[in-house]
Amino acid sequence: MRLVTQVSEVHEFIDEYRVQKSTVGLVPTMGFLHEGHTSLMQRAGNENDKTIVTIFVNPLQFAEGEDLSSYPQNLEKDISECEAIGIDLLFVPSSEEMYSQPILTSVQIDQLMNTIEGASRPTHFSGVATVVAKLFNIVGPCNAYFGEKDWQQLQVISTMARDLSFRVKVLGCPTVRQPNGLALSSRNAYLSLEERKAATALSRSLQIASENVQAGETSAAVIKSQIVDEITDEALVTLEYVEIVEGNSLITIDQIFEGARILIAAKVGKARLIDNVDPYFGIK
Ligand code: AMP
Repeated sequence: MRLVTQVSEVHEFIDEYRVQKSTVGLVPTMGFLHEGHTSLMQRAGNENDKTIVTIFVNPLQFAEGEDLSSYPQNLEKDISECEAIGIDLLFVPSSEEMYSQPILTSVQIDQLMNTIEGASRPTHFSGVATVVAKLFNIVGPCNAYFGEKDWQQLQVISTMARDLSFRVKVLGCPTVRQPNGLALSSRNAYLSLEERKAATALSRSLQIASENVQAGETSAAVIKSQIVDEITDEALVTLEYVEIVEGNSLITIDQIFEGARILIAAKVGKARLIDNVDPYFGIK
């Protein structure tokens, strides 16, 4: 595996891959890798000749007062994991490398950016889309793998790639969970043992909602209030929102149908956690 920090070094490798006509799989991350990330990396490895992972804690997607300075990091462990999986190129740029000049350009994806998570974090998705656009341009044509765990992010990036004609195929991968249902997240590192247990209320409420939908309940209001009740019962968890939307457009719906998605966010101790489900599939 080659570990590089400069955009020009990525270009050198990409140029070699292109000569060999290799297909390239790209997995952008913020590091502190867990099995959610490694599932994306393994899939990218299985489906492509060469696999590139990026680790970059992108300041643009954090607002004032969020956890940019305390975001968990363990680069040595991340490097060993990438090596063990057989990643070909690991790109770990500094902020100065990614934003050598003050950045004046930003990517906006109308309608998808300001709802749900974007309503709580108004600058977040523009920061995500802008850095992902840069990574897509640095790497060039590739298959790019993103987790369904960040459902709205996946819709934002798929739409951006389509609208701006990137030669990138965006592929969504299922959420990897602990056996108790808790979605793996780097931010779970902020949780105490007790909070970790309490945090299972998120996936549990989504599973109960899914069972009710599969049993025939289609009223979004009814399902929402069941989720609110389930989460409110857990004293250590403070629900921020529960939204039921059409999965791709993210438009709020009153009646649940195939293609719907339920998304929630909650504070547990210092961590702000998100989760989502296709109610006709449930938490697996
Ligand atoms: P992050 O490092 O949190 O920016 O995540 C990097 C990529 O891994 C994103 O595409 C996430 O959606 C994905 N990811 C994070 N957690 C999980 C998980 N539990 N299951 C599947 N993918 C995940």
